[in-house]
Amino acid sequence: MFNLGNLSTPSSNPGKHVKVLILGSGPAGLAAALYAARAELNPVVLTGLELGGQAALTYTIENYPGFPEGVGGAELGELFQKQAERFGARVEFDSANAVDLSQRPFRVTTDNGEYTAATLIVATGARPNHLEIPGEAELTGKGVSYCATCDGWFFKDKKVVVVGGGDSALEEGLFLTRYASSVTVIHRRDSLRAGTLLQKRAQENPKVNFIWDTVVTEIVGAEKVEAVRLKNVKTGEETNFPTDGIFIFIGHTPNTQLFEGQLTMEKGYIKVDDKMQTSVPGVYAAGEAADLTFRQVVTSAGMGAAAAIMATRFLEHENK
Ligand code: NAP
Repeated sequence: MFNLGNLSTPSSNPGKHVKVLILGSGPAGLAAALYAARAELNPVVLTGLELGGQAALTYTIENYPGFPEGVGGAELGELFQKQAERFGARVEFDSANAVDLSQRPFRVTTDNGEYTAATLIVATGARPNHLEIPGEAELTGKGVSYCATCDGWFFKDKKVVVVGGGDSALEEGLFLTRYASSVTVIHRRDSLRAGTLLQKRAQENPKVNFIWDTVVTEIVGAEKVEAVRLKNVKTGEETNFPTDGIFIFIGHTPNTQLFEGQLTMEKGYIKVDDKMQTSVPGVYAAGEAADLTFRQVVTSAGMGAAAAIMATRFLEHENK
């Protein structure tokens, strides 16, 4: 996983001023850091709680250009970090918990202190959606999971179900076939949203089965998951389906609560123009916090780079 040893320890942060403060250490945040560092702006990245973002939880990323054999998500994040640090970016294991964007410099209060920033790049990413059904919260970590790479190993020779019909459900489901004896994908419709390559791979894998037109209404178990309660949405028929684990991949919600009332949003995502500019001059957003459409590692990194270029131009313009 990530090299925590490279991180600064901001234990005594008396209130620092930085030219570019970046919130989030996924592909968007670290690409922004690389570009801002190469512009000699000495950016500071606050990692948030998830170092490397969601990409770091992906076992293999096969569609990031430059890696014809694929690359581990955590490894790619580490490479991003090293490259940004080589040019002077500082990565701190710290989280923002309040922001004041009403005047400049912007103020960001973190777990360890306070920053003022001439420009801010928000790259806070997204978090997995929950089904919000009985048993889900109680059995999380006891057979309910949102990360196959993190938890797959615990299901060696066990039966698991995967909920969802998108790229994540199939990619993570295929990853789970390394360990589990069977992977049953439960989807609420009769056709998948996932791309054709993943669909083909899943359909050809002998360990993967599908249950169509079906939702999970309850997760059943005392100490750990024992079964899921299923309902066919076409016939209304309800059944119990025994399983050792349930992996839920039903989309994501952007991590943007901190900016509510301060930045213009659209469906919970920070609204940006084609230059990553938010509704507040000097504040840029990149990656899944601001991306309703693409949500790929490569597009997030591209948005991060664009945001840093615009922050650089903004500062140059001010200093004219
Ligand atoms: P997604 O594309 O939004 O798919 C979510 C899936 O969950 C959909 O099939 C949806 O059903 C289902 N769903 C949503 N709410 C549900 C609920 N309450 N109960 C049951 N099912 C529910 O999300 P994702 O798969 O996480 O992908 C997110 C983005 O990342 C996409 O743009 C995707 O292309 C990208 N991604 C790409 C890769 C790759 O390229 N290898 C890998 C992972 C993710 P419906 O289909 O009926 O709406």
